[in-house]
Amino acid sequence: MMHHLVQLAYLVATVLFVFSLHGMNDPKTARRGVQAGILAMALAIAATWAQPSITHHGWILAAIIAGIAVGIPLSKVPLTAVPQRTAISHAFGGLAAGLVGTAKFVLWSVYEPEELSQFRMGAIVLEVLLGFLTVTGSLMAAGKLQEVKWIPQRPVTYPFQNVSNIGLLGLAVLFGVLLVLNPTGSGAGFLFAGVILLALAFGVLLIIPIGGADMPTVISILNSYAGLSAVAMGFVLDNKLLITAGALDGASGLILSIMMCRAMNRSFTNVLFGAFGQVQAVAVDSEVRHYKPETIEGAAQVLEQANLVVIIPGYGLAVAQAQHRVRELYDQLTKAGITVKFAIHPVAGRMPGHMNVLLAEAEIPYSDLIEMDEINADMPQCDVALVIGANDVVNPAARTVKSSPIYGMPIIDADKAKTVFAIKRSKNPGFAGIDNELYFQDRTFMLFGDAKAVVGELAKHLAGGGGH
Ligand code: NDP
Repeated sequence: MMHHLVQLAYLVATVLFVFSLHGMNDPKTARRGVQAGILAMALAIAATWAQPSITHHGWILAAIIAGIAVGIPLSKVPLTAVPQRTAISHAFGGLAAGLVGTAKFVLWSVYEPEELSQFRMGAIVLEVLLGFLTVTGSLMAAGKLQEVKWIPQRPVTYPFQNVSNIGLLGLAVLFGVLLVLNPTGSGAGFLFAGVILLALAFGVLLIIPIGGADMPTVISILNSYAGLSAVAMGFVLDNKLLITAGALDGASGLILSIMMCRAMNRSFTNVLFGAFGQVQAVAVDSEVRHYKPETIEGAAQVLEQANLVVIIPGYGLAVAQAQHRVRELYDQLTKAGITVKFAIHPVAGRMPGHMNVLLAEAEIPYSDLIEMDEINADMPQCDVALVIGANDVVNPAARTVKSSPIYGMPIIDADKAKTVFAIKRSKNPGFAGIDNELYFQDRTFMLFGDAKAVVGELAKHLAGGGGH
């Protein structure tokens, strides 16, 4: 009876996990998606814990308390640090899978060697290999994103790098095959330790040649590895929920990384084996060109005359935490009968959905957040494109300059608007480290300053409170 109840709970949890992923497809249903995920996880833990075969309740309780103690501070990191926080979560996931696999191997080989079948050994090897490489890979990725001093930001490459990395992985796989052939052989313990060490080393070496720009994509790939590791763990522990949840995790991580690659026009193999993010030797002739600064008053006047204003947010909006000021500006403009839309580039900011999350926090209606393809059709009719802390995602070099690192990346056509106002603090480039033609074109005017301050002043001015 208990067994059936547990299986039923696992089935319900699996369905909830599917709903959870589906819900997170859209900002309107994302919150419900997260709630479904929490419910599914709570159900999964409760059903597993309720099984009569589970003992050592004190240890389980201690682990839950430790998890909460680590989880609460992790949940408080600023939004800009979420990619590295996510990487740390994957490291924990990989570690859990790796340790469970190791424990199972040790327990079975010492106490119940007859239980250690070739199939189980194969599953354990896969679990441990993927789990431990996820640990070091994710920690390295988090370190690179956090700009930890002793981890080089730039891709580190050396001769025969791919060959030696693949050789290392090959060696780990060879050890694994030997273990599967003879799970309880005399050298099994050494081979097993070898698999762990090689997996840990491979995780580090995998990330070294990858630049910071590709890190969020890599984190998503590592998420997928952690998921696959959980699938293997499901086979080891004969737990169906781990298999289904791990498969969902693995597949969604993979799909997300492919989507991110498409949005940045990067090939998947390039992300894994290329060295993107290197300093590009692009001829910068900004000294001979001139920015045209504009005043708040001037910009406010033009905005007041507009019919359609398209706001294009980018990473700078997140840095400045300007979302609430943007909401004030949005309110002032819409009050004056001006149509305001937000152009959302899929890789604006530093993680997928970054802009959606920020703007949702300021309660901007979802219906005014328009995806890139759709908004680009409106750009030629747009009176004012207000670029707030966005750079690469509006850089026309992506269309024409073949040597540019962002060549081929789809962009928001800010340059097609009748007037462009661009808010940024300095003349520094964006993430890709390159100049932006948009800032120099005839119709573009710069509003230099911190996005929060500038947008705040614009809103105040439009409300009639500034300067007059
Ligand atoms: P960019 O990094 O290209 O540009 C951000 C701009 O914001 C900078 O030019 C900066 O200029 C300005 N800025 C920074 N802080 C402030 C502030 N406080 N106030 C005003 N302006 C500020 O950002 P985009 O969003 O345009 O592009 C995202 C980039 O990140 C792309 O290259 C994308 O490929 C990459 N990326 C995105 C991922 C994702 O999933 N979203 C994942 C991995 C990479 P200044 O310093 O002069 O103020």
